[in-house]
Amino acid sequence: MEGLKIKHFFDTNYPLDLAYEWDNVGLQIGTLDKAITGIVIALDLTLEIIDEAIEKGANLIITHHPFIFRPLKNILTDTYKGNVIKKLFQNDLTLYVSHTNYDLGHHGMNTVLAEKLGLRDSEPLEMVDEAHGIGRIGKVDAMPLEAAIKHIKSALNIDHARLIAKTNPTSIKKIAICGGSGSSDMFEAKRKGADIYLTGDISYHQAHDLLQMDMIGLDIGHYAEKHFAKALKQELNDFGVDCPIYVSEEDLDPFKFV
Ligand SMILES: [Zn+2]
Repeated sequence: MEGLKIKHFFDTNYPLDLAYEWDNVGLQIGTLDKAITGIVIALDLTLEIIDEAIEKGANLIITHHPFIFRPLKNILTDTYKGNVIKKLFQNDLTLYVSHTNYDLGHHGMNTVLAEKLGLRDSEPLEMVDEAHGIGRIGKVDAMPLEAAIKHIKSALNIDHARLIAKTNPTSIKKIAICGGSGSSDMFEAKRKGADIYLTGDISYHQAHDLLQMDMIGLDIGHYAEKHFAKALKQELNDFGVDCPIYVSEEDLDPFKFV
């Protein structure tokens, strides 16, 4: 049964107990004890993604961000969340989430992003146990800041980034990255000698923290995590999951730059 093979894939590579304690991951709606007709992979679950799955004949949706995060007290169909749940059940769709366990797993989010950036000799930015760490730090050929920004935007396929810099360094040789909201690891990036730290969701006050420690920050947006879908599809294929797997075309960055 393909569903159980997918469960086995996650249990092996991104086990549930790898996730942070505050997180909510794994099977969220439906069951994996069934034949899988197709998989749609997306960052976030929306009604559009459900329509996409129905249209593609897929009965499993895998997302990075948890749709159910805080415990639900009720499921009401006059709310967006309630409607999503109703539509999932009505169409016999299963929802599986791999979030911080994916970030920390053997070929997870930050490994994917570090590879896109072409980081050499990269290692986890901060270890959480003996075998797993969050973020990545690694080397690139020395280049001026402007060239580094250009390289980062093109490698990650992003149109916009916000730069936080007090001084213009002579060159960028070491890049640290943490996909998503990784501002708390800026201190570790500084300690490990990164010339620039990339993450998303850098707040105003965190930007000031970066300036105060003379660390260059680049807010690449939370949506830079979009690359996970293609990487996960490849991994599932390599694991021998034998059903059509789709990288969602409906996944979207909620922010528009105007
Ligand atoms: Zn995220």
